[in-house]
Amino acid sequence: MKASCAISLKAVAQPMLGVKFPGTHQRYQHPELAVVPVTQKALRAGMLRLEMLYVGICGTDVHLISTDEQTGYVKSSAPALIPPEGRIIGHEGVGRISAIGDGVEGFAVGDVVSLESIVACGCCSTCRKGQPNQCEHSQLLGMEIDGVFANRADVPARLALKIPNAANDERLLKIGACLEPASVALLACKNAQIKAGDHVVIFGGGPIGIFTAMLSKMIFGAASVTVVEPIEFRRQNAQRWCDSVCSPEEFLQDGSHFDVVVEASGALDMLGNCFHRIKAAGRVCLLARTGGALTIDAVDHLLTNNISIVGSRGHLGGHFETLLNLAMTRHLPLEDVVTSVVVGIDQLYETLRNPRIITDQNCKVLCKLQ
Ligand SMILES: [Zn+2]
Ligand SMILES: [Zn+2]
Repeated sequence: MKASCAISLKAVAQPMLGVKFPGTHQRYQHPELAVVPVTQKALRAGMLRLEMLYVGICGTDVHLISTDEQTGYVKSSAPALIPPEGRIIGHEGVGRISAIGDGVEGFAVGDVVSLESIVACGCCSTCRKGQPNQCEHSQLLGMEIDGVFANRADVPARLALKIPNAANDERLLKIGACLEPASVALLACKNAQIKAGDHVVIFGGGPIGIFTAMLSKMIFGAASVTVVEPIEFRRQNAQRWCDSVCSPEEFLQDGSHFDVVVEASGALDMLGNCFHRIKAAGRVCLLARTGGALTIDAVDHLLTNNISIVGSRGHLGGHFETLLNLAMTRHLPLEDVVTSVVVGIDQLYETLRNPRIITDQNCKVLCKLQ
């Protein structure tokens, strides 16, 4: 059996002075990635051991390993716990089960599974109210517990969804690797209450923005979808999935009105600048984390027009199954959002160390590990 390697992140924990509850972006400095050997311990109860087949690079991974020029802290404000010995990152992927821990039922060695990335406790009052994405004791894969940028990974079985007949089907494997970000987009569309006939604007032409565009058009029946994106490659790439694409400058100049805004870029100032163009009963759904402030001058417009602003986090709640059904019956070409596939842990490491390759020349980048 080949030696197993993983991508581990170390960082210096140095909470920002004067901040009462520092977020990740106010706690960790000097992020450093390394390829490390995985020492396999005994498989714990409730866990699956996976040979990872494909993993996906997420914007959160990039933000976790890059620093803000002004503050010197990592950019990601998503919850993360980076212990001194390092954290194996990566939370999107599909793998083949090689061993099954005690107490796990419903899986067999050889099954191919895709992974949700939020471990919800299932018993806090928020979980009991049917809001597992907001679990009070949630742990994020690849952020607060070790993730899947590895040849072999032990993951909680409760995260796994079986992908039938995927073992030798590259398309299904890619779909499996895309289910997590696509489910984030599906939940955002639901939270934004996108309806047939809506005019939808999406800020950001990254993977989440493109999945949101695809779902708005193909599943939710939007009358029009506009993607606003500053990077040329991503604008070109977005064209296939929407009705119009423009740069932020072009968008601010045109005076069109719309029902829904999905903010998947982190450019919160854009929102303040176009808020008066949101129609009556419009919805704004905030997805991208920045740790920053949202300023809206047009508060009277919000009140008069009964506009809602909602946050969206997570993907739990059966969204993987929904998307898998739609993708397997060829109603959703989720795999077409993939623009590059790198091969092996070393290439994954090199790609992560040059994040501009991801942001300027790609949408979704996968890494094939087997
Ligand atoms: Zn992600
Ligand atoms: Zn809970």
